[in-house]
Amino acid sequence: MAAPQWIHPAIRAMRGYTPGEQPPAGQRIIKLNTNENPYPPPTEVLDAIRATVGDPLRRYPDPDASGVREAAARAYGLDPEQVVVGNGSDELITLFLRAAVAPGGMVVAPGPTYSLYATLVRIQGGYYREFPWKANGAVPVEALVEQDPSLIFIVRPNSPTGHACPLEDIDTLCSAVECPVVLDEAYADFAADSGLSLLPKHPNLVIIRTLSKGFSLAGLRVGLAFVQAEVATEIHKVRDSYNVDCLAQAGAEATLNQIEAFRPAITAVVNERSRLDRELRAEGFQVIASQANFLFARVPDGRGAAWYRGLKGRGILVRHFPEPEDLADGVRITVGTAEENTTLIQSLKSLMPEEGGGS
Ligand SMILES: *Cc1c(COP(=O)(O)O)cnc(C)c1O
Repeated sequence: MAAPQWIHPAIRAMRGYTPGEQPPAGQRIIKLNTNENPYPPPTEVLDAIRATVGDPLRRYPDPDASGVREAAARAYGLDPEQVVVGNGSDELITLFLRAAVAPGGMVVAPGPTYSLYATLVRIQGGYYREFPWKANGAVPVEALVEQDPSLIFIVRPNSPTGHACPLEDIDTLCSAVECPVVLDEAYADFAADSGLSLLPKHPNLVIIRTLSKGFSLAGLRVGLAFVQAEVATEIHKVRDSYNVDCLAQAGAEATLNQIEAFRPAITAVVNERSRLDRELRAEGFQVIASQANFLFARVPDGRGAAWYRGLKGRGILVRHFPEPEDLADGVRITVGTAEENTTLIQSLKSLMPEEGGGS
């Protein structure tokens, strides 16, 4: 089907983003493909959302998401003026691009990384280039700076590799450029450390968090940006007045008021990550050491797509990236519950080619 001529040429020319498969609710499938948390959020959070189903829905939500910003500020040791709330962190990424990148502007990132960036930069009329992570997982600082970019993305821990680059690289990069350095910390809740302590030092540092991964609320669509207050004022100009609905605000505020209640689920995921890492290596997979809630595993015969299909045939969804080429020989596996991970390992064993035979 030909696209209508009235669609902007840049949009006609681009491919849309392909999100991970989302099977219909109720389908019996082990879903290890989009890095959701396998454990439910605490009942208090669900109660807060339920309590908002009723008269509050008749009215517009708080345009300033004040309750969420205050709770986030308390939880992370910031001022509420330093917090911007988004309809998922994906919206926040769009807002920072909108505010910082003029048509034709250059946006760079170490890659491979989160593939949504390329799409969002194109929509914004900018150009996007990735430069390879150094062999030790460090940021290619010189290569990024040389591009004189309008914005830099760094994902830490990175997806789909799971590795966390040195924090010193973020510090160096922020000092070397004037443009925003957007540190996407979608997986920081599973990591040993975070770039948050660098925020007072760097007015161009933007820290992005989400409730989708560590906090088991991917369906609620809430992201947080932590910046210096002067930056937040500008970002508020480019967002919808009511970008976070009242159910999401209620759930997010309850979440941020009791972060400790989420700790057991996060610890369970981190412990299972170690076990899965160990068992995958024992089966001959090459696993990248991960600080996130997933593992990138290169498969024994290098045929990532075949293993993805084999697992799908056994009711287990993982993520395979056909490109770039250096990801095609592996699969990204979200850490599930202990039971799900055991089933995964059993299925992988059953897919192993026979000794001496083909697969
Ligand atoms: C999952 C993910 C996001 C998106 O998070 P939402 O808050 O659900 O929009 C952003 N960045 C990275 C790197 C992610 O993996």
